[in-house]
Amino acid sequence: MLLNKKVAVITGGAGLNGLGFSTARMMAAQGARVVILDLAGANPAAAAAQLGEGHVGLVADVTDKASCDAAAAAVLEAFGRIDILVNNAGITQPVKTLDITGADYDRILDVSLRGTLYMSQAVIPAMRAQKAGAICCVSSVSAQRGGGILGGPHYSAAKAGVLGLARAMAREFGNDGIRVNCVTPGLIATDINKGLIPDDKMKAILEGIPLNRVGVPDDVAGCLVFLASDLAKYLTGVTLDVNGGMLIH
Ligand code: NAD
Repeated sequence: MLLNKKVAVITGGAGLNGLGFSTARMMAAQGARVVILDLAGANPAAAAAQLGEGHVGLVADVTDKASCDAAAAAVLEAFGRIDILVNNAGITQPVKTLDITGADYDRILDVSLRGTLYMSQAVIPAMRAQKAGAICCVSSVSAQRGGGILGGPHYSAAKAGVLGLARAMAREFGNDGIRVNCVTPGLIATDINKGLIPDDKMKAILEGIPLNRVGVPDDVAGCLVFLASDLAKYLTGVTLDVNGGMLIH
């Protein structure tokens, strides 16, 4: 198994149709003890229960530093270590540049970007003490191509910020044995976009995908398992494009 006895924390992992839960399931199948963090309304304990014995769900809001720190402390209390962090929590909003309000900007950037910073800050001291850790951040093809699928410009900016933050952390903590990498999913069928893309737009999107299909959560989860595992032990600061060829560059 690729992640035998590793302790993996996954933010935004409670949505059963989402990338985070798919990653939780795949990491558990690879031997990891999984901690799902999510908002109370998403019921992370119920999601973790679906993974079987030995996995945990905790309520945590990644935009709140105290909440991130408390979650990391609870994981350390329960398991004694944190080997993997998947910064997956994110929200989107289909809106154009001139319509973005300050509150919209704060909301979208706070979950993806501030949340990635706060959760990374919460786990890095433990990873540093262990001299080992893998942080995986879920960005988006929106960061690379300037949106154009669903999220607005503030979403592209948040996800581009995640790429920069991850690369900077990779540089800063490499010497501590901590690897930091990103995935940039293309269009993946989850609740975040369900029913929001009209048929004609979907047809145009598919014409631009060489593999000729929309992604499924497991497509991304497999890449996150790889990045978190020792198969990727000489990778840090990289971005894996998981988009069916939508953006070949
Ligand atoms: P999703 O809506 O199922 O998952 C997002 C999760 O984040 C939800 O469980 C939600 O409750 C949680 N969340 C929201 N705010 C939070 C907060 N403050 N604290 C903790 N958790 C919070 O959608 P998804 O498609 O699985 O999205 C997962 C990630 O993948 C997101 O970062 C998203 O931007 C990114 N992404 C998705 C796609 C896609 O096409 N689905 C493409 C590129 C990137």
